[in-house]
Amino acid sequence: MMDKIYCYHCMSYHRPENMRQVTTRAGVRWRCIRSIEAARNTTAARDAFGVRQTELNRSRSLAEQERVMREYRRPDYRC
Ligand SMILES: [Zn+2]
Repeated sequence: MMDKIYCYHCMSYHRPENMRQVTTRAGVRWRCIRSIEAARNTTAARDAFGVRQTELNRSRSLAEQERVMREYRRPDYRC
């Protein structure tokens, strides 16, 4: 157990080369790089997804608006 460091995130022991010291509310703790990277990727993916969704919603509502406008104008063409 001496060659491993306790990871507060995984609640298990990892090799020291995979560990980073992080400051938490409870003080300085050891956490493995993998869990730090995983958390960052999740955040980045979530942010990217949020942006995509916003753009999608915007373009969707624009298309919907244009469709409604065409529908609205159609009777004029018939007359
Ligand atoms: Zn870990």
